[in-house]
Amino acid sequence: MNEKIFITKSSMPSYEEYIEAIKPLWESHWLTNMGKYHQELEKKLENYLDVPQISLTVNGHMALELAIQAFDFPEGSEVITTPFTFVSTTHAIVRNRLEPVFCDVKESDGTIDETKIEELITPKTVAIIPVHVYGNICNVDEIQRISDKYNLKVIYDAAHAFGIKRNNIGIGNYGDASIYSFHATKVFNTIEGGAVVCKDEKMYARMHDLKDFGIRNEELTASVGANGKMSEFSAIMGLCNLKHFERALKSRKKAFDKYIEGLREVKGIRILSPDINATRNYAYFPIFVEDDYILSRDELHKKLKENNIYTRKYFYPLTADQACFKNRYKNADLIIARKLSSQVILLPIFEDIKQEHIEEIIEIIKGVN
Ligand SMILES: *Cc1c(COP(=O)(O)O)cnc(C)c1O
Repeated sequence: MNEKIFITKSSMPSYEEYIEAIKPLWESHWLTNMGKYHQELEKKLENYLDVPQISLTVNGHMALELAIQAFDFPEGSEVITTPFTFVSTTHAIVRNRLEPVFCDVKESDGTIDETKIEELITPKTVAIIPVHVYGNICNVDEIQRISDKYNLKVIYDAAHAFGIKRNNIGIGNYGDASIYSFHATKVFNTIEGGAVVCKDEKMYARMHDLKDFGIRNEELTASVGANGKMSEFSAIMGLCNLKHFERALKSRKKAFDKYIEGLREVKGIRILSPDINATRNYAYFPIFVEDDYILSRDELHKKLKENNIYTRKYFYPLTADQACFKNRYKNADLIIARKLSSQVILLPIFEDIKQEHIEEIIEIIKGVN
């Protein structure tokens, strides 16, 4: 391939559309601090995602870090989580002075193995932080049952799960809170951005304090907060991208289906099978290179790169094995997580990826080229 193909390409409105949309900011000079567009995007997202209340943030990581902080867990408490995720999930736990306890994942879809959660619960456990990895939805019913039984909070990292519904219910409705990421590389973006879905009014108020220095009015700072606000430029980017999201989704679906059709029968290449009761957002296309494939995972990764196709081993290594966390926390046997991590390659998928490029990638994987 002559052109370089990367794993993703940010969705953007046309230049003219965005410029027209940000024009009012030059009249109001209101650039941030939960302005008009911030409020408008919150309302539109509540509606689109079918969730009760959304609090926008400067990025997905701050959404998660502040959402965890909102529960005021005692320092050193344990949080059961998955190591098969972006480092942000584990960082958010550790930066709240909590201890991650890594649970293995399921081979079928890469999400936390709900059958292995209970054995990790100790008197110090306060929460479960699962990840809807690649937009595959965790076993939310079983996780709810466990959290009710042991009185734990559940905070979902839904950074990959924008727009997904399960049994016609927006995925952000599960657990005590969910966070989204609207980073430029995600399926829906506000350049940088994120959101917390808050289940109750108290949590919403707490999130507001935490993302705006704890300031209640001109003379009252009621608590110690951070600055996690989304700017009006980002909110407007979100409003523009949201308008085109359904179109983007259709285009991604076309690419996704073509990959499935082309790779389904290739020996040694496994494709995940997510919950059939949930919709998809086609954010990622992971493949798992098994032992009976003609090349190793790393050889295939290299071969694709030699053909100008820049794929990612996402997530390798596991967060539990990253230099900053290795051997510091309790691990269950992470046999499946390590296996998936050693096999995974994410293939390029984005809104206007060319069909012929997908064909070429399939041919390379099939070993034809
Ligand atoms: C992207 C991502 C985040 C962090 O979101 P940012 O908006 O980049 O801060 C957190 N968790 C997961 C699983 C992610 O993929």
